[in-house]
Amino acid sequence: MAHGHEVPVRSKKQEAKAASDCRSVSKMKFSLSLLCLLPSTSAFILPQAEKVSTTSLWGRKPFISGNWKLNPQTRDEAVKLAADIAATVTPESPDADVALFVPYVFIEAAQKSAGDRLFVGAEGVCPEIKGAFTGAVSATMLKSLGVQWALAGHSERRVIFGESDEYINGQCLKLIEQGMSVMLCIGESEAEYEQNLAGPVCAVQLRKGLAGITAEQMSRVAIAYEPVWAIGTGKVATPEIAQSVHATCRGILRDMYGDAIADQTRILYGGSVTPESVDGLMAQPDIDGALVGGASLDAAKFGRIINFQTA
Ligand code: PEP
Repeated sequence: MAHGHEVPVRSKKQEAKAASDCRSVSKMKFSLSLLCLLPSTSAFILPQAEKVSTTSLWGRKPFISGNWKLNPQTRDEAVKLAADIAATVTPESPDADVALFVPYVFIEAAQKSAGDRLFVGAEGVCPEIKGAFTGAVSATMLKSLGVQWALAGHSERRVIFGESDEYINGQCLKLIEQGMSVMLCIGESEAEYEQNLAGPVCAVQLRKGLAGITAEQMSRVAIAYEPVWAIGTGKVATPEIAQSVHATCRGILRDMYGDAIADQTRILYGGSVTPESVDGLMAQPDIDGALVGGASLDAAKFGRIINFQTA
């Protein structure tokens, strides 16, 4: 799974993409050239028995992640949920990164409980490192717990907590500066969707959120496209709608960073993903994973999502 395989092992879906999309040739070349820059590839290949969560630097390895939001209500429940979810990650599972974004107070308990089968990340971070920012948690604090991933730009943070594109950009930059990774969430509201504005809204959120992040740093960025109208509503986007916006987002990345980076960057879909909808979404060429809210609170459901099936 997340873990141990640091060479660009490609899933069946990626193999299919390679056959049908000549761009994947440049993707492979990019992967191989990165591989050549490493002092010793073997240092990154761990035996199966020593699975550890390390961020994949190459290729669009599928990425299944859960966002617990303000759940569950107690530490004991968090410990059990993390353990139950980790147990669904088996050697037979798809070769994917798996992450749980959990409330700060549960991070250490969830890490211990989940072991090395998945990443335990944070739901946000303060764009400042230290000082008079009551209630805030910094990237260095998270890093000291061994956290590698954090969310930025979730629509609930944008809408309920008033986080601006500039604030979100500060979060991204701070995480990257600390050698961590960020999942930047973007997506249009229902009104914007109805006015056919998904593309332009995502373009603005991508350009502003990623301002100052270099091409080299993009290996530590994943994008989560989450149409606001689909989050927590049960109205999952159809695979075709999601694919179309993902392709648009990849085009924006192409414009910002060029072909190689655009072809390397993982774009996840989020918004009411369920065991019933995950396979169809994951079969789409530009959908590289899922960010899952509600269903990540149910180990059986999230386990089925982690174990998605593509033909
Ligand atoms: C989310 O909060 O990121 C999310 C996608 O939630 P849900 O799966 O419940 O729609």
